Amino acid sequence: MSTVSLPLPLVWTPPRSAKPPRHLADLSIEQVRAAVVEAGHPAYRAEQLSRHYFDAPAGQELTELPREAREGIIADLLPTLLESINDRSADRGTTRKTLWRAFDGTLIESVLMRYPDRATLCVSSQAGCGMACPFCATGQGGLTRNLSAGEIVDQVVNAARAMRAGELPGGPGRLSNVVFMGMGEPLANYNRVLTAIRRMLAPAPHGLGMSARGITVSTVGLVPAISRLTEEGLALTLAVSLHAPDDDLRDTLVPVNTRWPVREVLDAAWRYADVTGRRVSIEYALIRDVNDSVERADHLGRLLSGRLTHVNVIPLNPTPGSKWDASTPRAQDRFVSAVRQHGVAITVRDTRGREIDGACGQLAASVKAQTSAPTVRVERTVPARD
Ligand code: SAH
Repeated sequence: MSTVSLPLPLVWTPPRSAKPPRHLADLSIEQVRAAVVEAGHPAYRAEQLSRHYFDAPAGQELTELPREAREGIIADLLPTLLESINDRSADRGTTRKTLWRAFDGTLIESVLMRYPDRATLCVSSQAGCGMACPFCATGQGGLTRNLSAGEIVDQVVNAARAMRAGELPGGPGRLSNVVFMGMGEPLANYNRVLTAIRRMLAPAPHGLGMSARGITVSTVGLVPAISRLTEEGLALTLAVSLHAPDDDLRDTLVPVNTRWPVREVLDAAWRYADVTGRRVSIEYALIRDVNDSVERADHLGRLLSGRLTHVNVIPLNPTPGSKWDASTPRAQDRFVSAVRQHGVAITVRDTRGREIDGACGQLAASVKAQTSAPTVRVERTVPARD
């Protein structure tokens, strides 16, 4: 007789249907009003709650509300979405990376960077990423799940509060920019990302009152989603992660290129520029002996010449175990001048937060290194739950 032993689950997976709790940040002001009225409160409480969430200093009590109503309404519309479990600073405190834990144990990161003239938050739009770019740490683990609009907004609200409170050197300030360059592919989580952006743009008390041009959506080049974004009538900044001017190489660096090749991605980008009047950023992670030749720089220059665009060179941040490295300073200089020869604007991005694994492409790697439990199983192909 033999006994059958069932394998114990080695990892904990959040139930598929589990959703973050409802939060005011997921809702339009009309929806907040409806929710407030449904819970038996006067409609004007919606404004008070919104102002409290978007505008009040951290830790301030909601004193406008009668004490007996406070607890219920907070549980109902302002539940905690993200809990900060680790903060690390670099660059003399002007760069701060926060590791957040969501309701289901999912871990994500955001990075706040203060400059003399602005403050930028790099936000995550998904836990993990399904795009599988081989040089990016997040791409190695696959997609865990989409973040809700509220979970995206909450990263931004926390950064805006930190700036107002003067938590970064330089005194109280304002969060001026948000870049969707943290974990995830924002256009693969389109509806929630757009809802989150609308909350950032909405004037106080219903949102953060940010300017559209201060918000950058960075994409691998999901062409139908770029076209959809073009029609939104928002002057957001679009960044396209090109990384190679030719399909042969781009197929390997950005695998989704086999679906939407360079030509189609750039056509969609130029349409975006035409319709919105906004200069499109072309992201180019420079990888030694992979995509940094003068020939490729020339090719890139020819593709971009005469367009409303700007190239952002990102020196590769090697991820743990990666066979790739950043280009030599000499190769980088030659690449930049060769592109410039075509009259194309090009700059090299400064790499903030490298020593705290806060720089581009390193976020997921550091999340894994910092945490052991609970282990969230990473699944490659979780369908979008729109
Ligand atoms: N999914 C979005 C956002 C990704 S992160 C996108 O692909 O655009 C923002 C930028 O950092 C992208 O251009 C991405 O390709 C780049 N990046 C990722 N890993 C990197 C690394 N290890 N070194 C340099 N840049 C990297």
